[in-house]
Amino acid sequence: MLDCAIIGGGPAGLTAGLYTTRGGLKNVTMFEMGLPGGQITGSSEIENYPGFFDYTKTGMDFMDSWQEQCFSFGLKHEMKRVEHISKTGEHFTITVEGGESYEALTVIVATGSTPKRAGFKGEDEFFGKGVSTCATCDGFFYKDKPVTVLGGGDTALEEAFYLSNICSDVYVVHRRDEFRTAPPTLDRVKRKDNIHLITDSVIEEAYGGVMGLEGVKIKNLKSDEVTEMPNSGLFVFVGHNVNNSVLKDKNGKFICAVNDWGQVIVDLNMRTDVEGLFVAGDIRIQAPKQVVSAAGDGAVAGLQVISYIQELC
Ligand code: FAD
Ligand code: NAP
Repeated sequence: MLDCAIIGGGPAGLTAGLYTTRGGLKNVTMFEMGLPGGQITGSSEIENYPGFFDYTKTGMDFMDSWQEQCFSFGLKHEMKRVEHISKTGEHFTITVEGGESYEALTVIVATGSTPKRAGFKGEDEFFGKGVSTCATCDGFFYKDKPVTVLGGGDTALEEAFYLSNICSDVYVVHRRDEFRTAPPTLDRVKRKDNIHLITDSVIEEAYGGVMGLEGVKIKNLKSDEVTEMPNSGLFVFVGHNVNNSVLKDKNGKFICAVNDWGQVIVDLNMRTDVEGLFVAGDIRIQAPKQVVSAAGDGAVAGLQVISYIQELC
């Protein structure tokens, strides 16, 4: 029987592993389907992590030392994809691919989220080299420069507003003429002189060279007219997939409370409404989607697991 099963080895899962094992739990296993590190390992730079401002280091370099530190107190790593989690009585069962299962007293789910891709030409080629899904991380690279934002939902318009305080001009490209966002957000955006709404339009292509993105082509869907925007940055906000499938039972029903967007509802202690089940990082409600906050959540969840197990004994 595991004291704690941690699902996901990104900043939240690794930090939860550090706190639980350093805090004295002997039997903690982290299930991570790939190399630990999480989505930040796909980034060429790290922003917003206090104390760390070596921009020659990639996300992979940054997460390297986390693994060494987090495994040094006895955290075990199973490189296996978790299919689902269930609770019977006091215990959890973690079923991994292939059908094998593990029993655990507590579970911390830290499976993160995945920004959706829009599917235009050049999106994958220039992802991380001018095409971004994180304004908080990358907006500062375009200080006093124009940027394009793709999407017409709450995230796109909120991030466009954030970028408008950094960048010279923000061109919001949306495929319809009605926005999906809350009316007050749209009003706030419309009041900003340097945000320009380009409706009924899509990104036809992101183009560039070895140095990265050089510009975007925007196509008006009504006139077919293509406008070239020699911008240096493109931010894509076309939705997020919360990686919550492990929390669904065999009938597709969530085993704990989630909101309308599938984000797990937690309290300030990262507790779900199921005793012994905690979540941390991008998967939770109102996650700032930053490394520092995911790690903070992992620390809180790890400490809560220790208290929970002490109370069980
Ligand atoms: P993740 O990092 O998403 O980790 C989740 C882990 O769970 C993954 O490793 C995944 O393989 C694993 N997993 C998922 N499902 C399963 C399963 N069923 N079984 C086993 N394992 C599973 N933030 C910053 O603060 N600064 C930045 O500069 C920055 N830049 C970014 C650049 C890019 C390109 C991206 C995509 C994100 C960036 N972020 C940045 C955001 C940051 O990476 C995330 O907020 C953070 O990684 C979230 O951590 P997490 O541990 O919650 O989830
Ligand atoms: P979203 O609501 O799904 O919006 C995605 C936007 O991207 C839509 O405008 C959609 O266009 C567009 N889009 C999708 N695929 C596209 C493609 N391939 N090419 C071009 N455009 C594409 O996603 P979100 O904005 O990330 O929000 C997710 C959920 O979180 C929403 O329910 C939102 O309300 C919520 N949220 C709330 C807040 C808040 O309350 N403050 C903040 C952020 C997010 P269409 O409109 O034409 O479909």
